[in-house]
Amino acid sequence: MSKIIEPLRGVHDVLPAQIAEWQHLERITREVFAAYGYEEFRVPVIEQTQLFKRSIGDFTDIVEKEMFSFVDQGEDQITLRPEATAGIVRAVISNGLLREGRLRVWCMGPMFRRERPQAGRYRQFHQIDAEAFGFEGPDVDAEMILLSARLLRRLGLTRTKLLINSLGTPATRARYRDALSAYFGAHQAALDEDSKRRLTGNPLRILDSKNPDMQQIVADAPLLLDSLDAESREHFDALCAHLRSAGIEYHVEPHLVRGLDYYTRTVFEWTTDALGSQSTVCAGGRYDGLVAQLGGAATPGIGWAMGQERIVMLLGKQGLGQTPRRPHVFLVLAGDNAEIHGFKLAEGLRDAWPDLALQINLGGGSLKTQFKRADKSGAEFALILGDDEVSRGVVAVKPLRRELAQEECEIARISERLGVLLGLKGG
Ligand code: ATP
Ligand code: MG
Repeated sequence: MSKIIEPLRGVHDVLPAQIAEWQHLERITREVFAAYGYEEFRVPVIEQTQLFKRSIGDFTDIVEKEMFSFVDQGEDQITLRPEATAGIVRAVISNGLLREGRLRVWCMGPMFRRERPQAGRYRQFHQIDAEAFGFEGPDVDAEMILLSARLLRRLGLTRTKLLINSLGTPATRARYRDALSAYFGAHQAALDEDSKRRLTGNPLRILDSKNPDMQQIVADAPLLLDSLDAESREHFDALCAHLRSAGIEYHVEPHLVRGLDYYTRTVFEWTTDALGSQSTVCAGGRYDGLVAQLGGAATPGIGWAMGQERIVMLLGKQGLGQTPRRPHVFLVLAGDNAEIHGFKLAEGLRDAWPDLALQINLGGGSLKTQFKRADKSGAEFALILGDDEVSRGVVAVKPLRRELAQEECEIARISERLGVLLGLKGG
């Protein structure tokens, strides 16, 4: 026997039995973005490695150790996208979409990071992503947060909490960075390996440490909000006012920083207490310098990304699992003539009812076997067509889940009858 090929570490299959939650999440996502006038944007999964290095920042976990990068046969340096923002910014610039100055878009799809796999942390995972370009004021920050709040609410996810903070302008951040370097530098002995490494490259990232031993020293670190520049303070206060007026509960978390370098001013996260240590389900912020940094005309931007795996896990945890889709009808075929007529019947029914899900028995089998299959399919009704029924121009309708009697129906009228029995809507 040939050896079985195992999947790569940290990737997962979404099985048919698990797909209902994913489809539900994707459907609600489309509806909510449409409700805010955001358009879907599909960008490539592979980009030049340089794009991510230049946008995310050299001293970030992603660029230091998590990117799946390779050189292809044409010697191009390629990376599987670890996040969506950089690619969207690249696409917005290369397609000249900022000529009118403003754009609100979203996208959804797989991302790749070579992380240590654990529950809620994978090497291929999926994100829903929102981005807005060309809006300077705090109104768009509020809209972005309201949008994410509505999405979570529409999904019924209540065990979530919104954390917000401001990182100020790049100048404020640089000053804060120096202050943090001095503070953590004075406590070097108490730092773990990761934090020591971050001390020289990106001390802000130490605040993001997930190591419990680091929590005290992090808690005592100086706060950026205390040294925020006046304009960023005003921006932040206006955002808070917007959120209060919209009735969105928020918590100012002065140590909230994001793992990517491009953020300025507003940053936020939705966290949950229901998923253990992988507690962030959505995260985002403003990136006013990124478009210019990647060669476009200076344009403010803001965005967020939501981890789909974590949302799906949360749906399960909150008892919001979706029932898998079942066919409405399973068509049992007994006899050669019936098999030939069966396809015609099935196609006719599908023509009449675009919403009808009809599974046809394939590969023959005894009536007993076919009824077992019908039952296993989860269908509401079995339609039974034998050679005898064909010659009489009828078909039998057998309810599989309801206490109804089996009935016989003329083939000419079966479409109408099924429409009534299943409450189908015409196309
Ligand atoms: P974390 O702190 O959990 O590593 P992050 O700061 O790296 O998250 P972002 O880059 O902001 O996360 O990504 C946004 C969201 O995408 C996260 O909040 C999370 O829900 C999800 N996410 C990030 N990395 C992974 C992963 N490896 N597996 C599954 N989901 C992920
Ligand atoms: Mg991470």
